[in-house]
Amino acid sequence: MVTIRYDKDADLDLIRGKKVAIIGYGSQGHAHALNLHDSGVDVRVGLPESSKSRPKATAHGLRVLSPREAAAEADVIMVLVPDTAQPAVYAEAIKPSLAPGKTLMFAHGFNIRYETISPPEDVDVSMIAPKSPGHRVRETYQEGGGVPALLAVHQDASGSADALALSYASAIGSGKAGVLTTTFSDETETDLFGEQAVLCGGVSALVKAGFETLTDAGYEPELAYFECLHELKLIVDLMYQGGLNYMRYSISDTAEWGDYTAGPRLVTDATKAEMKQLLAEIKDGTFANRWIAENRNGQPDFKKARLADKEHPIEQVGKKLRSMMSFVKAVEVD
Ligand code: NAD
Ligand code: MG
Repeated sequence: MVTIRYDKDADLDLIRGKKVAIIGYGSQGHAHALNLHDSGVDVRVGLPESSKSRPKATAHGLRVLSPREAAAEADVIMVLVPDTAQPAVYAEAIKPSLAPGKTLMFAHGFNIRYETISPPEDVDVSMIAPKSPGHRVRETYQEGGGVPALLAVHQDASGSADALALSYASAIGSGKAGVLTTTFSDETETDLFGEQAVLCGGVSALVKAGFETLTDAGYEPELAYFECLHELKLIVDLMYQGGLNYMRYSISDTAEWGDYTAGPRLVTDATKAEMKQLLAEIKDGTFANRWIAENRNGQPDFKKARLADKEHPIEQVGKKLRSMMSFVKAVEVD
């Protein structure tokens, strides 16, 4: 059984007694820095002089230093730059100031799990990985809630790594939703598998294939968009509230019968075999090695895939339809 802890199990004063450096101010970085700050923690943000996020962090009332200065000042260093950028940032800006008594933290286990970062043995190394996009980490905190998080300790030189990590989780709001104890390996492997097989890879491919099937058959793209993308959220919201059973309670009997009969024809033994293969490649390092190499080469295939999907008809029609639905609070990014 997994251990789940809440605010009542955490001592918020532990993290309030530390100087914390948040390195990076992207999706997770801005949320951690602002939530910690609002929880009364002494926060500084580490960003290079050239970073576009600098004025934003300053405008939000945070102290901004270079990553090296921020890491040198801090007792707790949370690394929130992209996973592929972390080894270089670690070597240049963090490692020089690591010393006994300091804590190095991550929000994802990738670089520890695949040993692209190997911290000295005399520092604490822990993880608080929010199970949510960064913007929801901030929004739920502001709404008085929080998102669930995974806690793991890789090195406990001080003997208090777990308690401090739990205190950190509480300060970003996760003690309201639940903090699950795990390991760097389990977090990394399940996170990569989930985003590849289900949440991002699986869902995006399913949405596109459904849209293409309808439009190839001559149906209007607007109809196909509402059916295969827009309505997905309404279905997922029901699952989020009451599981598959509540979703099926809410849909028609005809939809429910279609669910039972069509689902297994799409997600077949072959699909499950492919899922097992994805997991095997995550566990043996094949996926990580390919992704690290792709970044070393300047991300050619990554950029190609990104561009191709940006030009997909579902994105063109979606942009137009969302602009007509003010309640959607449509956002368009480059
Ligand atoms: P991001 O891409 O949104 O933000 C990266 C930030 O790092 C930006 O502010 C960027 O300017 C800065 N940056 C880039 N290179 C830098 C450098 N060399 N020095 C200093 N700053 C630099 O990243 P993210 O998605 O927030 O991911 C951060 C970590 O959080 C990763 O370990 C990721 O796996 C983890 N995580 C992310 C999410 C998510 O929702 N995005 C969820 C859970 C965990
Ligand atoms: Mg994830």
